[in-house]
Amino acid sequence: MVASVNDGNTFTAEVAVVGGGPAGLVSAIALAAAGVKTCLIAPAAVADNRTTMLISSSLIALETLGAWQACLPYAAPLRKMRIIDDTRRLLRAPEVCFAAAEIDLEAFGYNIENRHLIATLEARAGELHLTRIYATALAVLSDQTGVTIKHAGGQARVRLAIGADGRQSPCRAAAGIGMRQRAYPQAALTLNLGHARPHGDISTEFHTETGPFTLVPLPGSRSSLVCVIEPERAAELSIMDDLALAAEIERRAHSLLGKMSVESGRGVFPLAVETADAFARGRIALVGEAAHVVPPIGAQGLNLGLRDGAAIAEIVADALRESLDVGAPDVLARYDAARRADVTSRTIAIDLLNRSLLTDFFPAHGARGLSLYLVDRIGPLRRAVMREGVMPVASQPRLMRGEMV
Ligand SMILES: Cc1cc2nc3c(=O)[nH]c(=O)nc-3n(C[C@H](O)[C@H](O)[C@H](O)COP(=O)(O)OP(=O)(O)OC[C@H]3O[C@@H](n4cnc5c(N)ncnc54)[C@H](O)[C@@H]3O)c2cc1C
Repeated sequence: MVASVNDGNTFTAEVAVVGGGPAGLVSAIALAAAGVKTCLIAPAAVADNRTTMLISSSLIALETLGAWQACLPYAAPLRKMRIIDDTRRLLRAPEVCFAAAEIDLEAFGYNIENRHLIATLEARAGELHLTRIYATALAVLSDQTGVTIKHAGGQARVRLAIGADGRQSPCRAAAGIGMRQRAYPQAALTLNLGHARPHGDISTEFHTETGPFTLVPLPGSRSSLVCVIEPERAAELSIMDDLALAAEIERRAHSLLGKMSVESGRGVFPLAVETADAFARGRIALVGEAAHVVPPIGAQGLNLGLRDGAAIAEIVADALRESLDVGAPDVLARYDAARRADVTSRTIAIDLLNRSLLTDFFPAHGARGLSLYLVDRIGPLRRAVMREGVMPVASQPRLMRGEMV
């Protein structure tokens, strides 16, 4: 559908989603599926070579939105997760292996290349009553009654703008929301690879002194790699020739998956933790990396982003049922309250785990090892940790429980 250009007073839609990455696409799909008049303002997303491990609750949400079936041929299940302490420190954690079957799940989640996920979400968005404006937002201007979003093709006027516009978020800047940031002395090298031995639907995370080195299954005898190391070393590895890089990765993986061959495309992502001071203000709500950035440890980033999208869609749909202005401060306050605990608790947990690997502080190694030992040995704790990882008890928007918003 083509959007109409208007004079700034006529509402083009109830809500505009700015940004067409996975968090923005899911937010727009959830709103449109709930019958909310929505426009999505974004250039076509450019997918990199990253993959996303979507946890069980995210899969339920995508299935409910009719977007999962088409992803399935491109996704690999994660039936087991193995964590190996590969540090050479005195106090090392025991090797642990969690199985989804222990908590009656077929899989903890599925790993999918972002390019396939985005293409599927784009296709699903195209089936819904959703105004798609293929343009970059040039200005986002919020006032008492609404938000005007100027783009190359004209402008949209809405009651609420959802900033899904990534780490540098122009929407966040327009709302005057600050970001608490901490950069880590680490970067993630990402690539996909083939290997001689089957992965057996098991992901393996080696904990090293520079951060995790994680192999996650892809369909066939392929896996995705997230290798967290010093930024200089990541830069060096990223320009190695294919054969030398494959040999280096095989060495770091202790030949667990046999001989490796790297596929084309490598990414290097500087690591940081960032959290917005507020998740909504002045008729602008933030979702995905516009609101929070976490290091790629434990596959939490986009799963949090999908919960943001599901939560804002639910709150907007409820507000409309109550005949409320969807951009009103109390509606935005509901969103902030709904997301704060989930984002904060996950961010703290990931930050602690990452810093316990980096630090030379002896007791921190002991605490990490002891925590893993206890989780491994105490059945109820073990199952609770597994469940919380893939089906968080709190902060579960309706979509994550299989209900429409
Ligand atoms: C190495 C690595 C591995 C990861 N693995 C996982 C994982 O396994 N599981 C997981 O849950 N998470 C993972 N993550 C996190 C996940 O990749 C991010 O959370 C996710 O990509 C963020 O999506 P997003 O839609 O919020 O932002 P983005 O993907 O950055 O999308 C933002 C979009 O906004 C658009 N945009 C920007 N400015 C404007 C504008 N002015 N107007 C319109 N559009 C605009 C951009 O073009 C872009 O398409 C990983 C991250 C890294 C770095």
